[in-house]
Amino acid sequence: MVPTIQDDEREAQQAAIRSAVREICKGFPDAYWRETDRRGEYPEEFVRALTEAGWLAALIPEEYGGAGLSIGDASIILEEINRSGGNSAACHAQMYIMGTLLKHGSQAQKRAYLPKIASGELRLQAFGVTEPNAGSETTRIETTAVRRGDRYLVNGQKIWISRVAQSDLMLLLARTTPYDELADKTRGLSAFLVDIRAAGDRLTVRPIETMINHATNELFFDDLEIPAENLIGEEGMGFRYIIDGWNAERILIAAEAIGDGRWFIDRAVSYASQRVVFGKPIGANQGVQFPIARAYANIEAADLVRQKAAALFDAGQKCGAEANMAKLLASEAAWEAANACMTVHGGYGLAAEYDVERKFREARLFIVAPINNNLVLAYLGQHVLGMPRSY
Ligand SMILES: Cc1cc2nc3c(=O)[nH]c(=O)nc-3n(C[C@H](O)[C@H](O)[C@H](O)COP(=O)(O)OP(=O)(O)OC[C@H]3O[C@@H](n4cnc5c(N)ncnc54)[C@H](O)[C@@H]3O)c2cc1C
Repeated sequence: MVPTIQDDEREAQQAAIRSAVREICKGFPDAYWRETDRRGEYPEEFVRALTEAGWLAALIPEEYGGAGLSIGDASIILEEINRSGGNSAACHAQMYIMGTLLKHGSQAQKRAYLPKIASGELRLQAFGVTEPNAGSETTRIETTAVRRGDRYLVNGQKIWISRVAQSDLMLLLARTTPYDELADKTRGLSAFLVDIRAAGDRLTVRPIETMINHATNELFFDDLEIPAENLIGEEGMGFRYIIDGWNAERILIAAEAIGDGRWFIDRAVSYASQRVVFGKPIGANQGVQFPIARAYANIEAADLVRQKAAALFDAGQKCGAEANMAKLLASEAAWEAANACMTVHGGYGLAAEYDVERKFREARLFIVAPINNNLVLAYLGQHVLGMPRSY
């Protein structure tokens, strides 16, 4: 394809984003991420630096104080963070949660929250969907929001809800109509903006210890009151609104995985070229070199699908198939690169000071969350290829 002037301009803009994000990341080297990981601490300074530079407001339109960038541009921010050795999972959710507010919130809600989120005065990093009894079957969630005059009363339990202690606001999905009363099971759920700071002891946050530094929690709601004005859009339409945001989420997660994959390849190539055993660099052996080369090829292929998905998304076209494939392929390619990098490092791959084991643990998440790859395959099988529903 012959490049157009717009292509050239976009490339120049994206190159500028890459180098600006890299500059910030230089201030947060491996040792920073290693230490926050070791202590299980939220990378507060990093998130602040990113917010102050405006990158976490990438997708907020300029009229609300954001940068008004495209999803393609935003995905580069997250890719560069992970490629530099950092972990975007500390702050990625704000980019995709905010879309629900932007697309389905009222003018009053957007004016009240978006400029403050853009400036960093408010953080919207928490997304309360998953529940222990529902798992991947979101339409089965049981946490209820019952209308009482000008308020909703929320009761129930969530699991795996990340960054609650580090956020001011949470986007919550709760049931407003009992499951058995619904003809269409995708209705009956509603989206709310919850002010975490005002929740007090009506919201219990219990941290879950995990193999990665992810600030994730179990939540218990006990008659938590939410003002009715914090309902987003129409009551009963929350699941549809969340689905609307899924393509953006998939594209951004794919970019993070690609960033991880490129980090693994860089480290693997460098180590394979320097480490000498049996009188030659280990990378001179095909058994060492080929798995790295193959993982590299798969990352490049996944990146093309991610770019296609982002281009379709930004053009306002359907991109469900591409966004899902990008997430699937990128998470698998990153995991392949993680294994190649771990293997090439021999025993040193397991030593914390090499950072490979940390990134290895972090890259594994993308196979599972925010959606696990089996469900991506089920989507492709049913909605793209037209096969019978498998679940
Ligand atoms: C670190 C971390 C952070 C997270 N952060 C958040 C967050 O901030 N907010 C939030 O709402 N959620 C969050 N999640 C939840 C995450 O989205 C879910 O874990 C994920 O969607 C899978 O749900 P589950 O764990 O209940 O798995 P399950 O649904 O129980 O599935 C278990 C396994 O069964 C397989 N499976 C299930 N059904 C089928 C089927 N029909 N066909 C084939 N295979 C199937 C799955 O592929 C999976 O391998 C987080 C999870 C983790 C681990």
